[in-house]
Amino acid sequence: MSTIDVEISEVGPRDGLQNTKQFMPTEAKKAWITAEAAAGVREIEVCSFVPPKLIPQFSDAAEVVAHALTIPGLSVAALIPNLKGAERGVAAGVHKLSFPLSVSKGHSQSNVRKTPDEQLAEFRRIADFLRTLPKGKRPALSGGLSTAFGCTIDGPVDEREVVRLAVGLVEAGADDVGLADTVGYANPAQIKRLFTAVRREIGDRLTGAHLHNTRGLGLANAVAALETGIKTLDSSLGGLGGCPYAPGASGNVVTEDLVFMLEAMGLRTGIDMEKLLGVRRQIEAALPGAEFHGNLAMAGLPKGFGAAA
Ligand code: ZN
Repeated sequence: MSTIDVEISEVGPRDGLQNTKQFMPTEAKKAWITAEAAAGVREIEVCSFVPPKLIPQFSDAAEVVAHALTIPGLSVAALIPNLKGAERGVAAGVHKLSFPLSVSKGHSQSNVRKTPDEQLAEFRRIADFLRTLPKGKRPALSGGLSTAFGCTIDGPVDEREVVRLAVGLVEAGADDVGLADTVGYANPAQIKRLFTAVRREIGDRLTGAHLHNTRGLGLANAVAALETGIKTLDSSLGGLGGCPYAPGASGNVVTEDLVFMLEAMGLRTGIDMEKLLGVRRQIEAALPGAEFHGNLAMAGLPKGFGAAA
């Protein structure tokens, strides 16, 4: 029996650091993952398997994964944009591969130099490769539909395209699918409409929401997603990462604020708030000059605050 109502998937070491200029020393990354797992976070996206020349931040990906795998009970996830990345992720032994597929053509081209359908074909190659592995060596394969709620390059995104590509991911072999508001355009009504439309086609394969707080609607959108049956929410400690398209704005939903809201609502996350705030202080010290976001760290916990029972 699970004692968790909502699973928090921490993406800071990947999504956050990808958008952070300074290189975080490998030991500090390891300490971050250790501390956040100790606070009760059960899944962490620890790195991205991309060419180190492209993103030097992840040149130590295999070493970071090796460390994360020593933490009992932690689900170790990594982002992989192509088959080559998937092969590296499998060699490193990650539990879960997260594959991004941009719904908007402009974002897809600028991100991976492929159309959405070409990227879907790449996903198929990855799923086929995973099927050749013995069961115990096969990581879970997760497809994330980026820019599902709008795009800074193309503007509005056709919701039928989101549904079509979600079906395509499942048909290709995705274990689960998530929708991502990559640039923070979504609103709660849109979240409800699109998550419901996708669930109608792929049912419980739709598990995750990756939301940004760029325009202040991250938490409202999280509640809306939960109301459609979503059980896994991505977030980043300190909202780390920002948004390259909106200088000064926050990026990912802030893990501390999200966990606080959920626990206050009576939804169990398994995460210890005080310990989580301690991890934030640790990362602030490890990344001087990086931009941190979030209200809870500034205001503190309410007097007499109790976690969800
Ligand atoms: Zn993000």
